[in-house]
Amino acid sequence: MSILVVGSVAFDTVETPVGRAEKVLGGSASFFSLAASFFESVNLVGVVGRDFGEEQLACFAGRDIDLEGLERVEGETFHWGGRYADDLNSRETLFTHLNVFESFKPKIPERYRTSPNVFLGNIDPVLQLEVLDQVQEPRLVACDTMNFWIDGRLEALHELLNRVDVLLINDSEARQLSGESNLVKAARAIRALGPRTLVIKKGEHGAVTFSDEGCFIAAAFPVEDVVDPTGAGDTFAGGFVGYLAAAGTIDDATLRRAVIMGSTLASFSVEAFSVERLLSLTRDEIHARFRVFKHLIDFDPL
Ligand code: AMP
Repeated sequence: MSILVVGSVAFDTVETPVGRAEKVLGGSASFFSLAASFFESVNLVGVVGRDFGEEQLACFAGRDIDLEGLERVEGETFHWGGRYADDLNSRETLFTHLNVFESFKPKIPERYRTSPNVFLGNIDPVLQLEVLDQVQEPRLVACDTMNFWIDGRLEALHELLNRVDVLLINDSEARQLSGESNLVKAARAIRALGPRTLVIKKGEHGAVTFSDEGCFIAAAFPVEDVVDPTGAGDTFAGGFVGYLAAAGTIDDATLRRAVIMGSTLASFSVEAFSVERLLSLTRDEIHARFRVFKHLIDFDPL
């Protein structure tokens, strides 16, 4: 059951304690698509400029990722710059050059409109709403956002949340969006805005999922050599939505496995800059690490 994703396809310039990567492939839709395509076919909607070349397009080749919805227009590709602190957990945005995104109007190709699963990656909520308006009653709508949009587009974001099933955000964004410092209270307030399921990501500390069934705490895989956390959130979303799309159901057990699959994919993504590790990743590696998670969080209560 295919997945429609809209999000940024970007150049990233990233500094981490391990090194620096200049104008490498990034963007929420890029990480998401590469991760989700391990499970289901992906229809990508986004925009790039003339500076986006064959080298970047080649990253999507040979995978089940349809690029008909990736527009190429005059101008420069979205470019984001960020620097990570020594603990690799907090980051500072150095610049956000929206470039071709400033005049982007998402046009969903006819054959994408019936995609049963939709992921609204991190872009302007006004654009996320425009995409939702063009699709036909999807089974699952998941979405992501970030501080940039919570600050600047709160009204549109509230309108959007009313129409999504699953929201995936990190802990600081959950606090910012709800105005609550306690995450349990924050989750209650955010779920009251619309999303039945809320996944709060906590970087190297895992993720907490709130749904009608209660709360599920998932560990993050203990990665020894973190190189670049950029895209971990979108990669998580790709594994999560990809797994749910392939399963075709969203009961509690499936939801829990999907969260662990998201954590599994994200744990690989941070092992190299940009999308490098996702490009070398194999299904066998994914399944091996997925199984290790059971042992990580299992204990005998006597
Ligand atoms: P993550 O680390 O999962 O939060 O996602 C990082 C990705 O988000 C990077 O590859 C950036 O290109 C992209 N990004 C950063 N800021 C924005 C923004 N304001 N709108 C859309 N995409 C963004």
